[in-house]
Amino acid sequence: MTHFNAEIISIGDEMIGGARLDTNTQWLSRRLAELGVDVQYHTTVGDTLAHNTDVFRIALRRADIVVATGGLGPTRDDLTREAIAEALGRPLKLDEASLRHIESMFSRRGRDMPERNQVQAMFPLGSKPIVNPQGTAPGIDMVATRDDGTESRIFALPGVPAEMKTMFDQSVAPTIMASGGGIKTIRHAVLKFFGTGESDMEQRLGDMIARDRQPRVGITVSSATISLRISAIANTESECEALIAATREDIMQRVGDLYFGDGESFEQHHAVDQILKRMGGRLAVIELGRAAPLGNWFATLGDTPAFAGGVSLAKVDDLVRLTGTTPSSEENQTLADCFDVISERFQADWILLVNEYPDLQNMVDQVMPASEVTFTVRDPQGQQSSLTERLGGHPSIVQPRIAKAALMFLRQRLAKK
Ligand code: ATP
Repeated sequence: MTHFNAEIISIGDEMIGGARLDTNTQWLSRRLAELGVDVQYHTTVGDTLAHNTDVFRIALRRADIVVATGGLGPTRDDLTREAIAEALGRPLKLDEASLRHIESMFSRRGRDMPERNQVQAMFPLGSKPIVNPQGTAPGIDMVATRDDGTESRIFALPGVPAEMKTMFDQSVAPTIMASGGGIKTIRHAVLKFFGTGESDMEQRLGDMIARDRQPRVGITVSSATISLRISAIANTESECEALIAATREDIMQRVGDLYFGDGESFEQHHAVDQILKRMGGRLAVIELGRAAPLGNWFATLGDTPAFAGGVSLAKVDDLVRLTGTTPSSEENQTLADCFDVISERFQADWILLVNEYPDLQNMVDQVMPASEVTFTVRDPQGQQSSLTERLGGHPSIVQPRIAKAALMFLRQRLAKK
């Protein structure tokens, strides 16, 4: 099974100058990986013809597939057509069908085509236009033959992200799939974990994350949530699924205790929502300190019966005042009295309290020193259980990490019911 490798070229002074982030390359990298194409290079270049020509020459030498974005507009600094023509030593030639498409795009908007736009219908000899249903600039699809007879295929797309994405999905991806690369089918699964660091996870996974393993298992971490992405390549969908199932089983044997669900954007609050819905439970969260990530996350679930609401306050004293209760000498009793009121007001049978998020003003050398945080869960029978952890870290992730640790504790309590 031969695999295509690819280079992505992003063209524009705005990327080189830092005025705009090159999101096209990120999107294309993910899409190409989904097609089983091995992206090996990202190149960014400004709007200078000689530099663009160089970049295309180099890419054609080292990549089976070259996907470029930008520089297909009608203005003088749009140089992609010329750069490709020059790199391949081909003249530019007018494509009548593309010219008619560009004219029709203008007439649909009730305008005459400015003469300048005619250059968008100029194509390197031997190339094919790629239809652009949303804009004027067609893309360029061109096969280049190297001196040794091997081939490299260029796809040049407009820089406008929406146009680029449509054209990639409608034209480029089907062409890549049809042109072989050996890949018939590719399937992915994303498994989510929480409760340990990346290096510990890597250690426990051992050889599972070796780059040459089939199916490949990739590991990524985003604010303390670990994702394992299984990518299986085979002849049929069911072969892919079988490969994924076997790998999933291996993974579960090693780190199944930390698993909470499947899917790129699946987080622990989704898992909690599902569990509570199954049980017919309803949760209220109380967050003390200067943050309320749990309330925010649950709010993104929309109108779910599983989430009754959230309270965000600075200290336990504020909770006592809010609930109109009387503080007891026993902290647990104080909380129990507050929980009674919250539970009744919110019509919630489960309560999760975080006491408390650290104040990020107390950072030392850009790091939050570890401090004690206590999670308390009250179940529908009124039983209270608590866990105290020492947590700290980079200020950008310390609050979400605390909230996620709280959700993990809650999931453990829910699992016991
Ligand atoms: P057009 O025909 O619309 O001019 P074009 O192919 O000439 O398309 P550019 O002029 O380079 O594309 O870019 C058009 C728009 O797309 C600009 O707003 C630009 O900032 C944005 N853009 C270009 N390249 C990228 C990229 N790699 N990532 C994100 N945005 C981009």
